[in-house]
Amino acid sequence: TSTNRLPIAGLAHVAGNTTPPLLADTLFDLLASTVGKEGDREAAIFLQQNRRFTWKTLGEAVDAFAGGLHRLGLAKGDRVGIWSPNRWEWLVTQYATARLGLILVNINPAYRTAELEYALTKVGCKALVTAESFKSSDYLQMLATLAPELTAAGSGPLNAARLPDLRYVIHMGEGARPGMLSFNQVSADGEQVSRDELNAISATLTQDEPINIQFTSGTTGAPKGATLTHANIVNNGHFVTAAMKLTAQDRLCIPVPFYHCFGMVMGSIGCVTKGATMVFPGEGFDPAATLNAVQQETCTALYGVPTMFVAMLDHSEFKNFDVSSLRTGIMAGAPCPIEVMKRVVSQMHMSEVTIAYGMTETSPVSFQSAIDDPLERRVTTVGRVHPHVEVKIVGDDGETLKPGVRGELCTRGYSVMQGYWDDPVRTTEAIDAEGWMHTGDLAVIDDEGYCNIVGRVKDLVIRGGENVYPREIEEFLYRHPKIREVQVFGVPDPRYGEEVCAWIVPKAGETISEDEIKAFCKEQIAHYKVPRYVRFKTELPTTVTGKAQKFMMRDAMLDELGIS
Ligand code: AMP
Repeated sequence: TSTNRLPIAGLAHVAGNTTPPLLADTLFDLLASTVGKEGDREAAIFLQQNRRFTWKTLGEAVDAFAGGLHRLGLAKGDRVGIWSPNRWEWLVTQYATARLGLILVNINPAYRTAELEYALTKVGCKALVTAESFKSSDYLQMLATLAPELTAAGSGPLNAARLPDLRYVIHMGEGARPGMLSFNQVSADGEQVSRDELNAISATLTQDEPINIQFTSGTTGAPKGATLTHANIVNNGHFVTAAMKLTAQDRLCIPVPFYHCFGMVMGSIGCVTKGATMVFPGEGFDPAATLNAVQQETCTALYGVPTMFVAMLDHSEFKNFDVSSLRTGIMAGAPCPIEVMKRVVSQMHMSEVTIAYGMTETSPVSFQSAIDDPLERRVTTVGRVHPHVEVKIVGDDGETLKPGVRGELCTRGYSVMQGYWDDPVRTTEAIDAEGWMHTGDLAVIDDEGYCNIVGRVKDLVIRGGENVYPREIEEFLYRHPKIREVQVFGVPDPRYGEEVCAWIVPKAGETISEDEIKAFCKEQIAHYKVPRYVRFKTELPTTVTGKAQKFMMRDAMLDELGIS
């Protein structure tokens, strides 16, 4: 509550309160204690795969697969990659690897061969757990291109020229695949390993050891492997769902991907800390399937990035779904337009929805609105700092700024990653000598500690010497009743240095003209902020976690305008 937060005005930086205390469990201990407490209650439901787990059966599946990995000779500190959409095998793999102290390497399901090769070799994965395919992509086919040795291999360990560390590929499908092991067979073999033997391994693990490597979205630069410990992710999951007042009675619908902290840490681990039930609508996001999951499984909470909520609200069948069981949820991962938040509160029954802000490198959440914050604050800010996290806003010269002044957001505390795997240079660029993580996000924190994310340090258009923050124009354009989605970015211009460009997705059934947009902006925002170029699209390029890929939009505009 606000009463036990430290005072803010005038302080050099702000610290979240230190109650409740941090959890001391490792990831597997956390699961084991919930399995012990909740037993036969429902733990996880995978609707597309038609598979339901109680806490007890989830614990058994985790033990079986952990036993199988142990029999393959995988041991503490070894890296295991996972490349798959949201499937039950991923959930089991997360806790099974954690039980043995293996480091699970989350590979984006949107990655293709070049990125997969980079991720696997960068961290030296000894095993890869993979789905057979996702959407129209044949994962096993892509793997075979990378490692043609696979198809010729017998049942022994792999030896592939381009993937020198990789010994085992474990596929999630049915039937035999040359050179690969099946998930079910590895689990069946693992049932031979006694629980005592596994417990003896789990007992040697400590909370500050690395447990996950998350390859970050890569909206900028080459992917980096953020290395997270048990303490990082167990505690973040705990505080995220504590802010939502989640309990064992809650049922959380998780359409966001496992590969990102939003699905695994805030979703799955967050549920495990409270004994809440996880509901997974499908392998990838589909608005109708998500709404159906909420209705069918009477979910009380729902996660999503802003574009997912927009897709659900604007779905032609939206009104036919009963979402009245919803109470709370989280919108996060990208700027959350005020209008969208208001619709989520009023039309999706999520009166207690919260906004969270974070990044992979901070496990992920640093700020989150509380369900008892005033509504206006809840829809317009990302809330206040999480417990046990310190924050400050710094200016161009690294000086700490006062409340109310815009600058780069820095965070420090238990949630900051260990570093980027095998990348000391980029680690020290991100985390300074005093332990501050430099987020690259521009923010303003007010006197009461509420934070507004106002843009990226580098997402700035400079037009004729005037600074234009795309986020501000996006917020403004979202007020237009016919606009469903909008992204604003800069393109080079011989006269002004840069010009403002907007890509717009109109709402279903609506058409808008460029003149209409310009007329809407006129007299409302400064002339230099009015987009010079307006383009209408049916969808915008985004990452799987809904982050706009502005560089792709910019490239397309450069082509169109004939700028090289
Ligand atoms: P990732 O590491 O993929 O989670 O991306 C982290 C980035 O997403 C942050 O640095 C922000 O730029 C952006 N982000 C996440 N949550 C929010 C939010 N609630 N509002 C604005 N931007 C956000």
